[in-house]
Amino acid sequence: MSRSVTILGAGLVGSLLAVMLRKRGFEVAIYERRSDMRLQTMSAGRSINLAVSHRAWHALSIAGLKELFEDIAIPMYGRTLHQIDGSVVFQQYGKNREAIYSVSRGELNKKLMTAAEEAGAKIYFEHKCVEADIPNNRFTFEQANGQSTSVQADLVFGADGAFSALRTGYTKVDRVNAVQEYIEHGYKELTIPAAATGAFQLEKEALHIWPRRNFMMIALPNTDASFTCTLFFPFHGTPSFDSVKTNEEVLQFFNEQFPDAVPIMPTLLEDFINNPTASLVTTRISPWVYKNKSALIGDAAHAIVPFYGQGMNAGFEDCSVLMQCMDQCGDDWEAVLAQYQKLRKPNGDAVLQLALYNFIEMRDKVADPEFLERKKIEKDLGLRYPTQFNSIYEMVSFSHIPYSTAWQCIEKQDALLQRIMQSGNYFDLIGTDSFKTQVDTWMSDYHASVATLEFGNGAH
Ligand SMILES: Cc1cc2nc3c(=O)[nH]c(=O)nc-3n(C[C@H](O)[C@H](O)[C@H](O)COP(=O)(O)OP(=O)(O)OC[C@H]3O[C@@H](n4cnc5c(N)ncnc54)[C@H](O)[C@@H]3O)c2cc1C
Repeated sequence: MSRSVTILGAGLVGSLLAVMLRKRGFEVAIYERRSDMRLQTMSAGRSINLAVSHRAWHALSIAGLKELFEDIAIPMYGRTLHQIDGSVVFQQYGKNREAIYSVSRGELNKKLMTAAEEAGAKIYFEHKCVEADIPNNRFTFEQANGQSTSVQADLVFGADGAFSALRTGYTKVDRVNAVQEYIEHGYKELTIPAAATGAFQLEKEALHIWPRRNFMMIALPNTDASFTCTLFFPFHGTPSFDSVKTNEEVLQFFNEQFPDAVPIMPTLLEDFINNPTASLVTTRISPWVYKNKSALIGDAAHAIVPFYGQGMNAGFEDCSVLMQCMDQCGDDWEAVLAQYQKLRKPNGDAVLQLALYNFIEMRDKVADPEFLERKKIEKDLGLRYPTQFNSIYEMVSFSHIPYSTAWQCIEKQDALLQRIMQSGNYFDLIGTDSFKTQVDTWMSDYHASVATLEFGNGAH
């Protein structure tokens, strides 16, 4: 078995993978396009914070790193919805008060890079991979000083993000299918600073959403008591980044759409004008691996839109599943990579779909009274039928149930909830024996309809 591994990209996934491989005794060299972010201050408008959920925590604990992140993670127990009339509704995420955790992407990445180096990996910064010769496993890197170096690799993981050089190399190989799609929305980061007293200006332990149908703003808490807000907004049309540009337009738009946020966003105009507008892309490629030589991992394999908060979670789960494949297949890298692809590719495709689906839910449905009622019913069903029913959100965020299973359950849960909601007011009826018996039957039908899917230890 090859003992020497080359990783492209020292982002979140590349750095975590390096720690895991070093723990198994591999020599690890990482080539990173950027300079060392630990030596720089973060540029404005690029302070993304991420929601860390179950799958990422699990991978971090396999790598022995969970404790390192607990002190920079703020639990968010649910969504706080800010309606246009200023009213606020809280929706708890899990039936047992489970949380997702807000963590600064920059801080997470810096700590992971340090952990990779402390574990013995070597990171070559300012080495941009510009050419990937896939059949020969030969890689060319351009350095900041203009010099170029070539590396003959044994085994390579492309953890170099949505615009991966390894992925580009794959597209030149016979019979590789690849798709890249931009959605019509982009995003811009804005800020709600801490109050003068140093306090949080919104409820700290929640993910805040201002859902406005074709667009939305969200805010996640930071450890310095500020919130990073992200406006997801179409590039074109009305309203859009095209139509809201001048100071007057920005103020008018925010006062109309986010009236409760404007008074706590003192740098709104500067942020809106100066911070970059970024695009959102999804990518799909097949296959993900090349013989016993290389594999894509993280965003390089499956770039997704950020609306389920699962991009990094899925990438970290790729790493933990890869370790399982190494346990199962021993020294045979061709078998390890084939098994990794078999287990992960359907889940990469499913999480991509789930993320697009959740955008509609977040921006469009969460403000709808019928949808809010449905969420309450789902929670009650989860408590009444704990071994038979888990909401899709719980499967995705608080379990290891494969993303592909969660995706396949959506339609079946829709049918179940539709039956229940069409029968009248659930909370009035559920106390009656006849309705309870009816729901028992529907629940059994639902359970039977998903019985062939893979759940591991999770409830259906
Ligand atoms: C607005 C937003 C919000 C998000 N929120 C969440 C969230 O709440 N939860 C969640 O789980 N995920 C979230 N994500 C997704 C998450 O950020 C990504 O899934 C994650 O960063 C992927 O990690 P990665 O290491 O695969 O790729 P990246 O983080 O993109 O890292 C790739 C690395 O490779 C380097 N690189 C690129 N090209 C080359 C090259 N040619 N040569 C050498 N090095 C190269 C890059 O410089 C970078 O360091 C969000 C994303 C966005 C945009």
